[in-house]
Amino acid sequence: MKKDKTTSPADSGILDTATTRREFLKKGTAAGAVAAGGMAMALIPGKGNARTFPVPPKWDKEYDIIVIGSGFAGLAAAITAKEAGEDAIILEKMPAVGGNSIINGGLLASVNSKLQEKEGVKDSVEIYVNDLLKAGRGLNHVELIKMVAMEGSDLPEWTAERGVQWNPKLEHLGGHSVPRTLLTTNSSGSGIVKPLTDYYTGKLGGKLQKKTKVIGFVRDASEATPNSRVLGVAVLENYAFDYKSTDGDRNNKSGSRKFYRARKGIVVATGGFSQDPFLRGIQEPSLAKPTDQLDSTNHPGATGEVLEGLFKLGGAPIHLSWIQSGPWASPNEKGFGVGSSYQIAAGFRFGIMIDKATGRRFVNELADRKTRADAMFKVIGDPKKPVYPFTIADSDEGVLAAQTLQKCLERKVVLKFDTIEAVAKHFGVPLEPFKAQIKEYNDYVKAGQDKQFGKPIDKFIKPIEKAPFYVMEGVPKTHHTMGGVMINTKGQVIDMETQEPIPGLYAAGEVVGGPHGASRLGSCAIPDCLVFGRICARNVAKEKA
Ligand code: ADP
Repeated sequence: MKKDKTTSPADSGILDTATTRREFLKKGTAAGAVAAGGMAMALIPGKGNARTFPVPPKWDKEYDIIVIGSGFAGLAAAITAKEAGEDAIILEKMPAVGGNSIINGGLLASVNSKLQEKEGVKDSVEIYVNDLLKAGRGLNHVELIKMVAMEGSDLPEWTAERGVQWNPKLEHLGGHSVPRTLLTTNSSGSGIVKPLTDYYTGKLGGKLQKKTKVIGFVRDASEATPNSRVLGVAVLENYAFDYKSTDGDRNNKSGSRKFYRARKGIVVATGGFSQDPFLRGIQEPSLAKPTDQLDSTNHPGATGEVLEGLFKLGGAPIHLSWIQSGPWASPNEKGFGVGSSYQIAAGFRFGIMIDKATGRRFVNELADRKTRADAMFKVIGDPKKPVYPFTIADSDEGVLAAQTLQKCLERKVVLKFDTIEAVAKHFGVPLEPFKAQIKEYNDYVKAGQDKQFGKPIDKFIKPIEKAPFYVMEGVPKTHHTMGGVMINTKGQVIDMETQEPIPGLYAAGEVVGGPHGASRLGSCAIPDCLVFGRICARNVAKEKA
């Protein structure tokens, strides 16, 4: 993988911080022409991303608050800003809103929620923080997760008041000590993104501009760096993401460059970089493969150009090499698909996961994601000759209630068998050890304690005995990049050199590193995005225009 490097700023029409204002005007580049007289801006296909631009002589547009990205974090920020009466805009590079959020599983962990009270679940900020620390291998920035826990208990109501519909029952996800997770009625993040977008653009009349790619930040160079204010962004308007590119579309072959000013500040909510072969590949060389060769659960625009821009401004990087694979995906469909939701809601909780070679379990099916994914990769072995493990669950009502089960059956992501023998025959599993394993597990369920792997047996989990049986093969897929830029509890981006906030610059969501440490627990991304989106907007609204 070769990074697209600009040989000289003049070649690309893009300038970097080293270029002085005089040089900028002298060079006679297209950018210089604009600076000199605001001449008509031709299409400038700027190679590379993430540059820092000098202040343009004239801004093309001005707002109080610019929010970059239209996922959970960006929507929460823009809604909060607009509700506070601010002139905000969301800039989104893709032709559709929602990024990863719209294809996410729609799971929200909330501590001390009304639903927990109703179901008699005893939870606390401390238990939640400990669960996250355990999954995150102790690397989590505790002050950030405490904020998520404390400020997240009203999220079910906050979202419901803005149109989101939740199931009336809690889910119990892997790595969580207690049930604390709500699920949207359509088992998808679209059940949050769509109503919030409608609420923002409809009821609030909020501005949202798609096909607008942020390619860099504008910084006030008149003050002493590194602590000068970030004043705005450089964008490509009418940008058309190249879906055929396999490098996350680093070359920017479309769009015309404009400069937007943010009078109060910028909230960066651009998500993670799971679809960015360069960024993910330098962290973990096995992930350097082009996007057509390495499947991910993410949308194609999950790339890191704005994160790189934050680093160029001096933002402190955190945990970049912790890249999480989701253990619940299917090798028989692309991306997150319909199988992931089934596996999360039913396969792992009500079933067990089996190694085809031995007929035995090999991991706690409700362990955190990293523990499960690492164990699965071992069982799968050589990726060129993979042996995918599978979950087997029965016809218990909890399994049948999984919202995507029918779609999984239609798409053959989940297969239905009348007998255990038929399952063994289909997958070439040694029958006797397989049957013995199911009996052994069933005994643990009856005793209320899993002596084999310590899976938490809650009151809804039943022995696996009622035919027909549901079976889903599994493979971990690149899912979440834990790393990103550092923020404080106000959502301000922290400068690496001064260790102080960079004026005018805030960030929320997956672009931020720290909350989740080495591995994120399922259903903790949505509260992180929504809580910090709201916090960023509240604080940026307090800034002077
Ligand atoms: P989060 O879960 O953190 O909110 P998402 O992936 O759901 O993250 O949303 C991030 C959004 O930001 C996506 O819709 C993505 O297309 C958008 N985005 C990423 N990079 C840019 C960019 N350079 N300019 C504008 N929007 C961007």
